[in-house]
Amino acid sequence: MSDWLRELENALRPGQVSVSPSILDLHSHDESYHTPHRPDAVVFPESTDDVVAVMRVSQRYQIPVVPFGVGSSLEGHVVPVRGGITVDTSRMNRILAISPDDFLVQVEPGVTRKQLNAALRSYGLMFPVDPGADASLGGMAATNASGTTTVRYGAMRDNVRAITVVLADGRVIRTGSLAAKSSSGYNLTGLFVGSEGTLGVFTELWLKLVGIPERTLAARAVFSTVAQAVQTAVGLVGSGVPVTRVELVAPAYIAAFNQVNGTAYAVKPTLFLEFGGAPQAVREAVELAQSIASDEGCQEWLAVGDEAERNQLWEIRHEAAHTFMRLYPGRKHMATDVCVPLSKLPEAIADAEALLTEHGVHGAIIGHVGDGNFHVSLAVQPDDPAELARANAFNAALVARAVAVGGTCTGEHGVGLGKRKYQALEHGPALDVMQAVKRALDPDGRMNPGKLIDPLDASGGSSLQRA
Ligand SMILES: Cc1cc2nc3c(=O)[nH]c(=O)nc-3n(C[C@H](O)[C@H](O)[C@H](O)COP(=O)(O)OP(=O)(O)OC[C@H]3O[C@@H](n4cnc5c(N)ncnc54)[C@H](O)[C@@H]3O)c2cc1C
Repeated sequence: MSDWLRELENALRPGQVSVSPSILDLHSHDESYHTPHRPDAVVFPESTDDVVAVMRVSQRYQIPVVPFGVGSSLEGHVVPVRGGITVDTSRMNRILAISPDDFLVQVEPGVTRKQLNAALRSYGLMFPVDPGADASLGGMAATNASGTTTVRYGAMRDNVRAITVVLADGRVIRTGSLAAKSSSGYNLTGLFVGSEGTLGVFTELWLKLVGIPERTLAARAVFSTVAQAVQTAVGLVGSGVPVTRVELVAPAYIAAFNQVNGTAYAVKPTLFLEFGGAPQAVREAVELAQSIASDEGCQEWLAVGDEAERNQLWEIRHEAAHTFMRLYPGRKHMATDVCVPLSKLPEAIADAEALLTEHGVHGAIIGHVGDGNFHVSLAVQPDDPAELARANAFNAALVARAVAVGGTCTGEHGVGLGKRKYQALEHGPALDVMQAVKRALDPDGRMNPGKLIDPLDASGGSSLQRA
């Protein structure tokens, strides 16, 4: 046994360090097409002090550290490309404080979104950020996750009030405050949210809460063209209607759903909508939304209020990615994630459809269209270099167009390994500033090396250390 591993075991309690091959395998990958790589050890901290102990060993022996939530990320974020220690936060899963009058909750990072919402229900409160997967709140903060409700409630960066972070050298800091606003100091909370485990390990988070809407209605609107559906979404956002979700599902996904489940939904561009608020306001919102959709050429409109009916109405959207991948057994998921200013969205989606044909790639479009964010899901064979090259070329063309109109290569999934190559294009000289921040906080390049802004080679070696 190596010295660092012995020291790690001595610093923690029995059962908190694992080198079992099955545990290493579980922590070698995320949900994407990126090549797995095992860590050398996985630790299961139960407190901030445990994480500090891990960081001290990492510093003494110069061992990389990769924080891990539930591993649902989509760009190889948790793949330990240089081995080292994976810090799995699943045992740090306590809800530490609920403060209903402040609309705040304090959690450990391993608490999952569904776990938190189950605990909040009796208070009439909820945590609104919904990336689909039952991700950990630490992982969601670290990727600045967002999703179907962002059009109404914002992304993680809008909903994290304060974070306790263990830095690479073992120092513990708390960013932010519990106040609703502050003009004090640099916005370190905003910096750490979205840092993808490259600046420190979060061990506690204070999150903002909202009231569960008194009334919720869901609707589905079927169109003959994607452009009509997208124009409806743009019109809805512009009208100020209290819409909580506006999701586009393109025909390829619906055909996949019908094929897998034996259903007969119209294989046409479809908007899935949800409205929440006071009963009268919601009723009026649905009426206005229906008339906007109808002006854009909506062919079929269905609105329901009962919870079971709402879930059924939304089933295609909720199951979209998993259903699509079931058509391609053995293949891996590559999801593009561009986000553009709303006015550019219709053109960006039309471009994506044309680029799919141009690159000879089969993909399905799904979008958080109220935010200008959409994904093209591709089922790729990672072992086929020609196919992977076509998919990457498609993704690169999409990103170039998004950045050219003022957008971003990733609206919500984050950069991880897969989108590092677009960071210089998107950020220009600001990338140097980001790398200076990284060097200041992690001079040895031990925190999740090879990710986000690390301009490294394919081998996985960190080039920040050499810079
Ligand atoms: C079917 C499907 C649909 C999805 N849809 C969406 C979507 O709509 N929107 C969206 O935003 N995402 C979506 N995702 C991606 C995914 O759910 C998010 O990236 C999620 O926020 C990551 O949380 P996690 O717990 O899985 O983190 P992990 O995957 O374990 O880690 C993600 C990153 O966070 C870092 N990290 C984890 N915990 C900590 C910590 N305590 N401190 C510091 N860094 C940490 C890791 O090092 C890594 O870089 C989807 C994924 C799937 C599989």
